[in-house]
Amino acid sequence: MTNELILAKYGEMALKGLNRNTFEDILMKNLRRRLRRFGTFRLTKAQSTIYIEPKADEIDLNEVLDDLQRVFGIATLCRACICEKTMKDISVKAVPYLEEVLINANTFKVEAKRADKAFPLKSPEICAQLGGILSEAYPHLTVDVRNPDVTVMVEIRDTNAFVHGANLKGAGGLPVGSSGKALLLLSGGIDSPVAGYRMARRGVQIAAIHYVSPPYTSDRAQEKVEQLCQELTPYCGNIAFFCVPFTEIQEAIKTHCPEEYFTVIMRRLMMEIAQKIAEKDNCLALITGESVGQVASQTMQAIACTDAVSRIPVFRPLIGLDKTEIVETARAIGTFETSTLPYEDCCTVFTPKHPKVRPSLAEITRAQSRFDFTEMIEKAVAETEMKIFSYM
Ligand code: ATP
Ligand code: MG
Repeated sequence: MTNELILAKYGEMALKGLNRNTFEDILMKNLRRRLRRFGTFRLTKAQSTIYIEPKADEIDLNEVLDDLQRVFGIATLCRACICEKTMKDISVKAVPYLEEVLINANTFKVEAKRADKAFPLKSPEICAQLGGILSEAYPHLTVDVRNPDVTVMVEIRDTNAFVHGANLKGAGGLPVGSSGKALLLLSGGIDSPVAGYRMARRGVQIAAIHYVSPPYTSDRAQEKVEQLCQELTPYCGNIAFFCVPFTEIQEAIKTHCPEEYFTVIMRRLMMEIAQKIAEKDNCLALITGESVGQVASQTMQAIACTDAVSRIPVFRPLIGLDKTEIVETARAIGTFETSTLPYEDCCTVFTPKHPKVRPSLAEITRAQSRFDFTEMIEKAVAETEMKIFSYM
């Protein structure tokens, strides 16, 4: 039994509109799955906090902390020292426990939170007492209540008192799985992985669909997308990945439809297939990485044409973002490097020289009606292969 644990707090804000028990149960389940790799832990919950107690000394809590910073639903995280609910025990343990953070600081302050109102000292008294003791033990420190290098927290809770340094920022959002499942159209580009990350952060479990056109696209292109899937798993958990053979359809578009409409027709057919897969896999919506005006197929008119084929909602979480903002997130979550590897995507292979930038739905439907894609769509769906990616 160690005398240290991790406190994972989810702000009350996160709970708005969601049932508390559901939220907590899903978060606990996600945490349990996440913690298995590190060893055995005891998890309990109280007061908007999950207490994560390691059951073995050799577990490296900093490694755990680092990993848990990518779990959605947690607002803040910290390592904390477990104390008895007496000032004596708090003082005795706080001095050595905080050595590492205090030795490198010049200024500090103590903050106390007294959830247990039966504790004999009030918060200001706890701060004053422990502040005095820490100043004595570390004489190089001065107290600065406005802008301290280190804020020492004392929390008096139901079963124990906890002492810790600063809180780390958690990943925020809602626990993955608390908002149902959606199917992400995942290309090898920069945008769609970020779109998936954004929706996962809102509690959506992600499945992914990718269209390949061999021999126009290489195995490397598909491997790149699979790598992106893998890179999303620290945030999204398990991802079912559907790979759709799209060559025949793209060739049929090229043969039968006017060139200026290629891209939008292709996107509409992608949507048709995605919906069928979504229905089979219980996904309630589709997700794309589109952003208004980014390319010819992302004008409002083109998006309207694509949207028209979808019977389920299409989420476009990046719709109002600039490329620079999307790139920033891609870098932060670690997908940027893979996304910028140079392999051809099926979209770029058949890109027309002069796409119609503002097509009307009537024009598009007319152009698409030159060929009946129904059978090809069924065939592509039937030949779609599925793989599961999980966090390793
Ligand atoms: P991205 O960086 O996500 O590829 P992009 O700016 O290159 O976006 P497009 O190529 O026009 O934009 O694609 C728009 C959206 O369509 C993508 O964000 C993605 O959701 C979907 N998409 C495009 N190509 C594919 C593909 N081969 N497989 C699956 N989805 C795709
Ligand atoms: Mg792309």
